[in-house]
Amino acid sequence: MRADTIIIGAGLAGLAAAERLTQAGQQVLLLEARDRVGGRVLTQRIPGTDLPIELGPEWFDTHGELRQALEDDGCRLRIARGRFLLRTEEGWAPIDQEDDNDDPLDHLRRLEGPDRPLAEALRQARSAGLDPADERALLRYVEGFHAADPARLSSRWLLEVEKDRSAAASQVRSVQGVDRAVMHFQRRLGDRCMLRTGCVVQTIEWSPGQVRVQAKEAADFTAYEAVRAVVTLPLPILQHPEAVDGVRFDPPLAGKREALGQLAMGHVVKPVFLFREAFWEAEPALRDALFMQDPRQPVPTWWTQRPEEAPLLCGWAGGPVADRLTGRSGEALFDAAIGSLAGMLGRSRAFLESQVVGWRVQDWAGDPFARGAYSYVLAGGIHAHASLAAPLERTLYFAGEATCGGGYNATMEGAVRSGRRAAQALLDELARHP
Ligand SMILES: Cc1cc2nc3c(=O)[nH]c(=O)nc-3n(C[C@H](O)[C@H](O)[C@H](O)COP(=O)(O)OP(=O)(O)OC[C@H]3O[C@@H](n4cnc5c(N)ncnc54)[C@H](O)[C@@H]3O)c2cc1C
Repeated sequence: MRADTIIIGAGLAGLAAAERLTQAGQQVLLLEARDRVGGRVLTQRIPGTDLPIELGPEWFDTHGELRQALEDDGCRLRIARGRFLLRTEEGWAPIDQEDDNDDPLDHLRRLEGPDRPLAEALRQARSAGLDPADERALLRYVEGFHAADPARLSSRWLLEVEKDRSAAASQVRSVQGVDRAVMHFQRRLGDRCMLRTGCVVQTIEWSPGQVRVQAKEAADFTAYEAVRAVVTLPLPILQHPEAVDGVRFDPPLAGKREALGQLAMGHVVKPVFLFREAFWEAEPALRDALFMQDPRQPVPTWWTQRPEEAPLLCGWAGGPVADRLTGRSGEALFDAAIGSLAGMLGRSRAFLESQVVGWRVQDWAGDPFARGAYSYVLAGGIHAHASLAAPLERTLYFAGEATCGGGYNATMEGAVRSGRRAAQALLDELARHP
């Protein structure tokens, strides 16, 4: 089968690229390994309720294309409100979101010299007076929100990304589920593009002006040809062509080796429980809780649906904390999650289990078509997102969250932007060299 452009991967980046290219009259073939579109956007619903269970992303910005798509789709959007609480030996303590008296990032800003891993930078900042409690809070945040290993994370990149893309920038959720944005993008695309799901790309042979893709579809192997390709594969799939079910480029992506070595994929394990009722609200210390943290637990972070009143708790283990859980069976992850909740809330496991109506858990490192949650930058790699995004020989174009700089990597908005950017670069080249 032949097309003008093959897009590999039908997550948000692939869908956004497809929309732009088909609008410009390109014949597009969209190849997707899963039996569904949306990639890391993974919303499920437990039969008998209409509450969305977000196993992948759920938070987004007050503006941008993603919010617009959900609004256009008629979704109710809610800005999260509620208290942030830390479980200590003594009980619950508020985490003050406004407390910027002694921001540990200011200590990092004052450090001179080359970029270095966060853990190393913090060691230096400590000897210059950084409070150990502030250091611990920063580490918890970085491991959780950025899903990053502090021993590897670029401290310079952290400072840049935190300037305007910190966790506080994404506070909106879709009451009907964030997959409605995927459905909206797919509907807008209509039948203007040929979509093949269940199509696992295995090799991409390329030379200037020519791409030949071999893919496994059920028991068959199929070849697809085009003049160009937009590659939206998740970072680990580009990093490890030799892995089982890896994607092999021929010739290999020599020009991308440095950028691929300067980025890492953060891991996340995300359990979600639907309970009979929001029993924690009965405890005065937890009334109106939005975020609850207990660093002693294997799954240390939990959040509610506030301001919505829903009996749902969403757990989060990110970065090195997720590495300790990844690879376990679903039952073992349930066990770790319910045990964490019991420890944090001071309730018996038997009580919690009697309250469970349904549960789901996703170990993203074990997902063969993602192999992690989202990317972060290693020390020395401040320009790696941009390098990974650069097209090769006017033939291979790159999109996906890991190609998105400006703090937009690791986001749905960034994925959409990257798809549009790659498509536009392709169209601009085509206009220059018809
Ligand atoms: C647990 C978790 C929580 C997150 N939380 C948030 C959040 O709250 N807010 C936010 O904005 N972002 C969040 N993100 C990040 C966000 O989900 C991603 O940035 C975004 O969805 C990435 O889109 P993408 O199109 O770049 O990649 P993907 O969605 O991964 O799309 C790539 C596609 O390529 C396909 N593919 C892989 N291998 C092959 C192959 N061999 N052949 C063919 N196709 C293949 C995949 O199946 C996939 O569909 C979260 C992610 C995770 C995992």
